[in-house]
Amino acid sequence: MENVVIIGSGCAGNTAAVYTARAGLKPLVIMGREAGGQLSLTTEVENFPGFPEGINGPDLVENIRKQAERFGAVYKHGSVTEADLSRRPFMLSVEGEPIETRTLIVASGAQARWLDVPSMHHLIGHGVSSCATCDGFFYRDKEIMVVGGGDSAMEEANFLTRFGRRVALVHRKESFRASKIMLARARANPKIEFIMNTAVEDVFDVDRNIVTGVRLRNLVTGEMVDREVDGLFVAIGHIPNTQVFKGQLDLDPDGYLLSHGGARTNIPGVFHAGDVQDRIYRQAITAAGAGCMAAIEAERMLEAEGH
Ligand code: NAP
Repeated sequence: MENVVIIGSGCAGNTAAVYTARAGLKPLVIMGREAGGQLSLTTEVENFPGFPEGINGPDLVENIRKQAERFGAVYKHGSVTEADLSRRPFMLSVEGEPIETRTLIVASGAQARWLDVPSMHHLIGHGVSSCATCDGFFYRDKEIMVVGGGDSAMEEANFLTRFGRRVALVHRKESFRASKIMLARARANPKIEFIMNTAVEDVFDVDRNIVTGVRLRNLVTGEMVDREVDGLFVAIGHIPNTQVFKGQLDLDPDGYLLSHGGARTNIPGVFHAGDVQDRIYRQAITAAGAGCMAAIEAERMLEAEGH
């Protein structure tokens, strides 16, 4: 029987592991399909406090893991494939292996939705990004492209005009899903060029491991054009990793965990941390803070129960 199981090994899960391990609870961290979470897909992180020279994303998350292990956290490969939260102890299955736990911290994150373009996948972290706040700074005076037609795309395009020489916003339709105000703001920005009814077909240059351009296809005329681009920001939504909890934990219509205050979910003893509940901030530092909150709540609950 575990005291605390943490699902997810990104910034949120690893920070929860540091705190619960340091409290002597010997947490078990289920690493998940994308070990290290979204930070493992980035390169340089310049806005995590405490690193004046910046730090490599994968190094940051690995450092937090080492810190947690130093205090006794145990890491396990695999994903939670089933969960029964109807009574305590909670029952989990990690790819067939049963695990019982008194408390559970869900820090399973949200995956950025990516384009179905193989070359784009090769260049994630090397010119392809899903986070303007994280990576916009690297594109000062450069040619930037944003893909998407929702609020995120509008927000990212606007934000990126602070850095880029020009921002091209590519959307597959004529109409937008974005709210009127966000769209109006983007339209009023002279540095944003709208490219409608268009899909990204290919991203160059995989051989050089850096983004140099894209091939665009007009979905109405079929016409193809190549265009020089230094940074490609994909803003076509996120998918929270909550499928396994459907029908047990309260989720919003897009599948994000609903908070019941602090780090609490609707089930006492199950806590949330990081992007799995946060569709607004999505930063390494906010995820780390949320991991700390979840850990403190789990620790206090176990303490009150005499564990
Ligand atoms: P979203 O509203 O789901 O929009 C996703 C956009 O990506 C849509 O325009 C969609 O096109 C496009 N898309 C999806 N798959 C695609 C693909 N394979 N190829 C090309 N385009 C694709 O997602 P979001 O913009 O991330 O917003 C998510 C939620 O957060 C929304 O509720 C939004 O209002 C909220 N949000 C709010 C703010 C704010 O208020 N400040 C900021 C960001 C997000 P189609 O339209 O053709 O389907």
